Amino acid sequence: MAQPLQAIRGMHDVLPAQTPAWQRLEAAVRQLVQAYSYAEIRLPLVESTTLFERSIGAATDIVEKEMYTFTDRNGDRLTLRPEGTASCLRAVLQHGLAHNQTQRLWYQGPMFRHERPQQGRYRQFQQIGVEAYGLPGPAIDAELILLSAHLWRRLGIRGLTLQLNTLGTPSERARYREQLVVYLTQYADQLDADSQRRLQTNPLRILDSKNPALADLIAAAPVLTDYLEEASQAHFAQLQAMLDAAGVAYVLNPRLVRGLDYYTRTVFEWTTDVLGAQGTVCAGGRYDGLARQLGGRDIPGIGFAIGVERILAVQAALVGTVQSPELHVCLLMLGAEAEIAGLALSERLRAALPQMRLQTLVGSVKSQFRQADRSGASLACILGSDELAAGTVTVKYLREERAQVTVAQDQLTDVIRDAVPDLSEKNGSGVR
Ligand code: ATP
Ligand code: MG
Repeated sequence: MAQPLQAIRGMHDVLPAQTPAWQRLEAAVRQLVQAYSYAEIRLPLVESTTLFERSIGAATDIVEKEMYTFTDRNGDRLTLRPEGTASCLRAVLQHGLAHNQTQRLWYQGPMFRHERPQQGRYRQFQQIGVEAYGLPGPAIDAELILLSAHLWRRLGIRGLTLQLNTLGTPSERARYREQLVVYLTQYADQLDADSQRRLQTNPLRILDSKNPALADLIAAAPVLTDYLEEASQAHFAQLQAMLDAAGVAYVLNPRLVRGLDYYTRTVFEWTTDVLGAQGTVCAGGRYDGLARQLGGRDIPGIGFAIGVERILAVQAALVGTVQSPELHVCLLMLGAEAEIAGLALSERLRAALPQMRLQTLVGSVKSQFRQADRSGASLACILGSDELAAGTVTVKYLREERAQVTVAQDQLTDVIRDAVPDLSEKNGSGVR
């Protein structure tokens, strides 16, 4: 027999055993962004290719070799989004969301990059992004970092390191760039092919090189922080004072340049050493010039994105796995008539007990009892021909030493509520 069709390399299914961990993370994020008053925005997966070329930068890895770009039936050049910031700002400009007001936004969804698939690096991966517009001062830089630190605490994740740097303004960067080129040109013959090309196009990118052979050379390069003017210095110092006062530790890393060209001033990454090479779980920064670059008015912006697969991997390593929520009730439907009455009964029960998790069973009597035993449910409710004739249900307690009872169908809600204490609480257990 031929192999059944497979998913695309680097694009993964999230299987039922894994979704509880995803849902718990999503619930924690939803709650936290609400607490900080960020509103959700939902963005298309496909944008015009120009949007990413103009924002991320033509000489970045993403635009040079990682984008899924295609021509559609109208002949338009389109790209599956490789990240969310560009789309988010595009939407903000298009709808005037930051016109005479500030905006705090968040989104989540899949991103697409044609990278070499490996642990923690996929071709479709999930990001949660948080962005703020219209706020030029360092307080919002600090707020976003505090929000992310707060999320790690909620998730029980300890031991992440916050790396912090500033990239200054475009003019500060231009002066630095000259000096960097002077320095790197001395060692041009030691650079790899990518870096030699970038020496002309985008020399700062060389600092982001993952090639270990260049590590020493990069470590001895001039640092941008030495080229900052007073305003940028003050912004960075103020941010550090805010983080100090809030008790968030950080490491200053003058080589942190990030993989995208649009950043100005603050950049940061949260890293871990439990994931091997793919150690960055969250990254972001300020991008004050980007709105102009996209043809809009001048709007300061800042944001970060969490790599969901990576943060879940850290959580699994540090905190352990998340169990699926338990089933409360199995309804055994013994025979065709019982199936007809049983489905109607199960709907009445679910309407009366919205938090209850109930599964109906079909099949032979033997198989249904076996399924109920293995299900982990607290109760087995049995609807056979005797019960049908009498308008009753037989209730078997699967997890307590307690004699089974036969009750009228309209008493069943009370019996279930009595046997499953979770369900009598006001808010129920829901998805934890
Ligand atoms: P890296 O240096 O690991 O390539 P990046 O700088 O390209 O990351 P960003 O564009 O800043 O990453 O994306 C933010 C976060 O999204 C990263 O910190 C990471 O957690 C996650 N991420 C990025 N690319 C991938 C990928 N291919 N697979 C899984 N997660 C990813
Ligand atoms: Mg990358």
